[in-house]
Amino acid sequence: MDAASLARAADAAAAHERRCLLCEHRCGADRAAGQLGPCRAGTEARVFRHRVEHGEEPELVPSHLFYLSGCDLRCAFCIAEERAFDPRIGTPLDAPFLRRALEWGRARGARNLQWVGGEPTIHLPAILRAMAGAGELPPIVWKTDLHATPEALRLLAGVVDVQVADFKFGNDACAARIAGVPRYVEIVTRNLLLVSASTRLIVRHLLLPGHFECCFLGIVRWLADHLPGARVSIRDGYLPKWQARHHADLRSPLPADAGSLARREAALLGLDVVE
Ligand code: SF4
Repeated sequence: MDAASLARAADAAAAHERRCLLCEHRCGADRAAGQLGPCRAGTEARVFRHRVEHGEEPELVPSHLFYLSGCDLRCAFCIAEERAFDPRIGTPLDAPFLRRALEWGRARGARNLQWVGGEPTIHLPAILRAMAGAGELPPIVWKTDLHATPEALRLLAGVVDVQVADFKFGNDACAARIAGVPRYVEIVTRNLLLVSASTRLIVRHLLLPGHFECCFLGIVRWLADHLPGARVSIRDGYLPKWQARHHADLRSPLPADAGSLARREAALLGLDVVE
């Protein structure tokens, strides 16, 4: 998307700084006036780390990841811990910062710009403003919890080239207990169908200890039924971080063969499994 189109998208997104409906908390906060919703974000996005990484899906690497602080979820096992949740942490994101950082990443072979969090969707207006003024952009990857509203997804269509979307829980009870949100499955499955209609999609699932039956199987069976052949990235690098110790099921490590078993199961269902 060219700079003028990005600027128009940024103007449209700015309405959410007055009455925010970017995520499914739908709190309507007037962020420009200092009201804080559950994500606690204002109008400024902050980058707490950016670096070129090689541990992503093979078709994306080397990828230049920009980690933004602030998130709309509170997953008990979050690997980024407090940095993910406090939007005051990091360097303010603006066009000059992004332009310089992208030059740095380009010199290190980055193939794309990947927005990650926390959750980038809660910072959509600030991200669009920065991209509109940053000059030539590489392909854009959007790594998301997919707890967005359709309004936010419409703003993203045509802006991003790939969405890497988490499908974390296979049922609402696990999502409510571990991430603190209701209607999780309804929201994420609706959004997967919306995103897949307009954007290249990689569905990512982090295996959680003790959640093979209740979460993993439900997720891959839904994908096989509704997005047959979907590209699926099954991650087995679970670490019991942040508040995981408060959940008996999340304290233990994953069994050593959990990843290979899960990938085999997903492949048997016809999914395009990232190896
Ligand atoms: S992104 Fe933040 S301010 Fe906007 S609806 Fe969600 S929780 Fe509320």
